[in-house]
Amino acid sequence: MIEGVPHSETFDPGKGRGLAILGSTGSIGTQALDVVRAQPGRFRVEVLTAGRNADLLIAQALEFKPNAVAIADEAQGQKVRDALWEHDIKAYAGQDAIAQLVEMEGIDIVLTALVGFAGLRPTMNAIAAGKHIALANKETLVVAGEIVMAAAAKKGVDILPVDSEHSAIFQCLAGEFHNPIEKLILTASGGPFRGRKRDDLAAVTREQALNHPNWDMGAKITIDSASLMNKGLEVIEARWLFDVKAADIEVVVHPQSIIHSGVQFEDGSIKVQMGLPDMKLPIQYALGYPQRLANDFPRFSFAEYASLTFEQPDLATFRNLQLAYDALERGGSAPCVLNAANEVAVAAFLNKEVGFLEMSEVVEHALHTVEHVAKPDLEALFTLDQAARDAAADRVRRS
Ligand code: NDP
Repeated sequence: MIEGVPHSETFDPGKGRGLAILGSTGSIGTQALDVVRAQPGRFRVEVLTAGRNADLLIAQALEFKPNAVAIADEAQGQKVRDALWEHDIKAYAGQDAIAQLVEMEGIDIVLTALVGFAGLRPTMNAIAAGKHIALANKETLVVAGEIVMAAAAKKGVDILPVDSEHSAIFQCLAGEFHNPIEKLILTASGGPFRGRKRDDLAAVTREQALNHPNWDMGAKITIDSASLMNKGLEVIEARWLFDVKAADIEVVVHPQSIIHSGVQFEDGSIKVQMGLPDMKLPIQYALGYPQRLANDFPRFSFAEYASLTFEQPDLATFRNLQLAYDALERGGSAPCVLNAANEVAVAAFLNKEVGFLEMSEVVEHALHTVEHVAKPDLEALFTLDQAARDAAADRVRRS
């Protein structure tokens, strides 16, 4: 995307941008609706989708009056339809409905805020329909980065990052799109277990892992942050978004989460983007791009932070980050397998079926077991995703 200047049309407050918010009932989705609420007239909500939370989806639909909603869980479909039909809001159920709704006329930007591999199909459909993507669902780029970026370039649509690190890099690149990148600096909070060693981690609980020091996020990404898999997924995401080699992406642990990430250029100059840890800012930047919209979010003050600190990540303790670098280096199907196995491992950890350190073993097992494919196409990735899930589930059963 970032080879030239992204081409999102200039913001037109009169008309308002048409939004589809996939995963509107989640952490990113609800914060996106906070942004919409705080910017009257700037956005039109055209489509909302959820996984299972029918009550919240209905409440959001009644407030934001979208054209249509969809819920992945088919068993909830009738409840949503019954609540919305007299309000003239179309309601659908099932994964196919989510994938199809993104193509609707009136949508300018699709915010992919659903979690996991489920984001891939709707993102590809949205690109094919010429919609710009505000991408929170990093798993899509982990699984199919090359395919997704090529499709977006061909269609001339922007992939606007929502992840705070990638938004920071994107903001540092504004005005620099023609200057080669020497290195990306991806910051990581280190999560709740920063400084711990492997022996301390064997028995950590689900509740401890869910207690992130700086960010309030959905369960899956919170566990990924604790295990540093999230940073690994972000390295892969950055590789595709900014077209840089894995070796040129450096992870730096920065516990205060004030510097959100940065870019080093060929003259050695480093630009970083900073602010309080609040996802509403990168969400708003992606939805409003290229305009910066005034808001009343709390402001960062240097006076309140006596020091900002930095450390190397501990790859021996947090093996997931190394596994992600290795998968990126290997390429082909490896990142897809890594992602699928990790989704299974995180679900198993949340269900107390495997321990914290065992999550890496589940991922490694799938990476060793599933046949490597050098250049999988989109359909092959769906097959590989399932094969990796089966291999990972098998490893979980044997734990
Ligand atoms: P949440 O778990 O809070 O929300 C996920 C959303 O996706 C919910 O609306 C959920 O519906 C929906 N959903 C879940 N499974 C499916 C499915 N199979 N099909 C369709 N919809 C589904 O996640 P987050 O908001 O934390 O994260 C969303 C994405 O954004 C992830 O990819 C994450 O990595 C990324 N991200 C998140 C950040 C954060 O601060 N939270 C920061 C940066 C990136 P329901 O609740 O109705 O079941």
